[in-house]
Amino acid sequence: MSKIIDGKAVAEKVLAECLEDIQELKSAGVTPGLAVVLVGEDPASKVYVGSKVRKCAELGLHSRKIELPVDASQEDVLAVVNELNDDPLIHGILVQSPPPPQIDEDAIVRAIDPAKDVDGFHPVNVAKLALEDASGFVPCTPAGCMRLLKEAGVETSGAEAVVIGRSMIVGKPMALLLMSKQGNATVTVAHSRTKELAEVCRRADIIVAAIGMPEFVTADMVKEGAAVIDVGINRVDDSSAKRGYRLVGDVAYDEVAAKCSAITPVPGGVGPMTIAMLISNTIKAARQSMA
Ligand code: NAD
Repeated sequence: MSKIIDGKAVAEKVLAECLEDIQELKSAGVTPGLAVVLVGEDPASKVYVGSKVRKCAELGLHSRKIELPVDASQEDVLAVVNELNDDPLIHGILVQSPPPPQIDEDAIVRAIDPAKDVDGFHPVNVAKLALEDASGFVPCTPAGCMRLLKEAGVETSGAEAVVIGRSMIVGKPMALLLMSKQGNATVTVAHSRTKELAEVCRRADIIVAAIGMPEFVTADMVKEGAAVIDVGINRVDDSSAKRGYRLVGDVAYDEVAAKCSAITPVPGGVGPMTIAMLISNTIKAARQSMA
């Protein structure tokens, strides 16, 4: 039977550490501040933004929520980003993804001051991750996955790790973290063009699935005793559920759980870690702004 990695409990632990840091910073005269920019009315984005702002309030962080209409122009968004770059009370800025189609998301990310880029998506922070420069910001979801592996006692050093997915938000930074001197794993990155994916996955001591396809990773793809981190969040129709859908990961949970040594559930695995790491990055930004 596999060990269920409780992301909610680990996130609470991270947030308890954050609370101590926040109190320390406040007594030094600095309240960490996070600005969240939402362009448009995407319902899922609204939920994410709401929970980030609520978490800031709970922890005593300063936060600003800036909402722009769905027809906001590139210039409107850039003007907000520039204003936040200059706001000394704001240490972290994120523009919720995805913005409406008229917005060039890459250009917006590049406009954020890298010292305030708590999502870790700015090219300067991508480079710092590759260079293993600890002053950079690591994207929140893969940073959360690393912490989950650590808390679950999964040995990454020398392990064969397979990351499925090569996005800049999850797959690529996850691979960099696993192969860094922090992870010391031997890493394979699989993606939509990978041949013999099941065979590649069966080599893995650690599988990180970040694909966006419900229950894609099945038991036949997993080696007995492997650890499995499921990043996916997918809605599948379920008439028995109140909302008419339920959330599932990229991993066929029941059959894979029966075979692996440790696994993250969906929901309650990677999801809660993402926001905890965002708060942690905001504290780091505030601390670095004092230097
Ligand atoms: P993405 O769509 O940007 O990337 C998906 C990746 O999967 C691509 O690199 C693609 O090559 C790969 N892929 C697609 N089909 C494949 C196939 N048949 N075989 C192998 N690889 C294939 O997605 P993303 O932003 O990286 O997100 C992935 C999943 O993680 C989504 O379900 C998303 O909702 C979820 N997610 C969760 C969190 C969280 O906080 N838990 C954060 C970010 C993303």
